[in-house]
Amino acid sequence: MKVAIAGAGISGLACAYELERYGIKPVILEKSHQAGEKIVDAAAMISVLGRLHCDPLEYINRKYKLNIAPLDTLREITIKCDRQEISVIGDLGYIFTRGREENSFENQIAAMIRTPITFNEQVELDYIEDRYDYVVAATGEESFAKEMGVWTLSFSSFVRVAAVLGSFRTDCIKIWLNTKYARNGYGYLIPCNSAKANLVLTVNDITYDEMDHYWMAFLEEEDLRYIITETRDYESKIGKLKNVSVGNVCFVGNSGGFIDDFFGFGMMGAVESGILAARSIAKDMDYNRLSRPLLKHAARVSKLRNILNTYDNEDYIKVLSAIGRIPERELTYKAPLFRPTAHSTVISKLQDLLKRR
Ligand SMILES: Cc1cc2nc3c(=O)[nH]c(=O)nc-3n(C[C@H](O)[C@H](O)[C@H](O)COP(=O)(O)OP(=O)(O)OC[C@H]3O[C@@H](n4cnc5c(N)ncnc54)[C@H](O)[C@@H]3O)c2cc1C
Repeated sequence: MKVAIAGAGISGLACAYELERYGIKPVILEKSHQAGEKIVDAAAMISVLGRLHCDPLEYINRKYKLNIAPLDTLREITIKCDRQEISVIGDLGYIFTRGREENSFENQIAAMIRTPITFNEQVELDYIEDRYDYVVAATGEESFAKEMGVWTLSFSSFVRVAAVLGSFRTDCIKIWLNTKYARNGYGYLIPCNSAKANLVLTVNDITYDEMDHYWMAFLEEEDLRYIITETRDYESKIGKLKNVSVGNVCFVGNSGGFIDDFFGFGMMGAVESGILAARSIAKDMDYNRLSRPLLKHAARVSKLRNILNTYDNEDYIKVLSAIGRIPERELTYKAPLFRPTAHSTVISKLQDLLKRR
């Protein structure tokens, strides 16, 4: 069977890994000289925001036989809005290095597969579609799905990522919510190691030209004085697909809409969709059906994003106070916010806050 994977990010590599386990050797075509993420050097998996009630790494290992090492366990998240700040402490998830960083999430999967990656090879969908039995679209963006007429936009933002130097705890991230400089997006600081971190600002519904203004407002308002060694800008478009399997093309990872538009978390969706696409190809199963639970999760999270898009700073402060009152054990070990049964309660509580405005 001839299978081409377009893109060597997390989803494409996870797909290749699983195909190999079924004895299928795919062709992996990557447009750049490196596997995966180009913008950010570190990322987090936060257990409470996940789809399942479990430790995400233990789950990936148990269910998909993928053994990934994190940079560190995530033990503290500080969230700040205006003068209000809360810290949540516990076993909250994991922090990973990404992309070009040594031992990054994608480099660890790449080291587990035998299939060589063909770098500097930009795939055109209409060129490869007829040359392979299956094409796995793992490009991390929407162009192939748009070309096939199955994509709609759900959240658009500009993202600035700065590499900053300083002294950082590797088990801690900081999040800022403030409509003055992020609108309904967010800022965060995530460590790459103890001396380097990424400072990130995501601002929704602005033009590229406006980013400098919001970035300067962020640094000033929060009095952030890190040494910045590099900045990268990125237009993020999170979308949903009508179908994730069209003809002989399977859409995985961000390309398939397996990313939440709440905080832009997509690593888990990339792993799972890549693996499910491989299984559907190897066992001739319906990929649209196999991936339905993942897409339902993304749709549930999307409802929350729609509510957050209407929030002002007063609302954020009320949410922070409410989170501050939740006992530590609830946040750490109890079922995730977006599981079907908890989801409607979370949504109605957040809507209540709006009504009380
Ligand atoms: C700033 C930022 C911060 C993030 N933080 C988090 C986080 O903390 N937690 C989390 O879970 N997620 C996070 N994400 C999202 C996460 O990085 C993505 O969801 C995940 O990387 C998606 O994997 P992917 O395989 O779909 O795409 P990617 O990782 O983007 O990989 C796609 C690959 O395809 C290649 N490619 C593109 N077009 C072509 C083509 N035509 N032909 C061949 N190759 C092509 C690209 O070069 C790239 O290597 C973040 C994303 C960004 C941008």
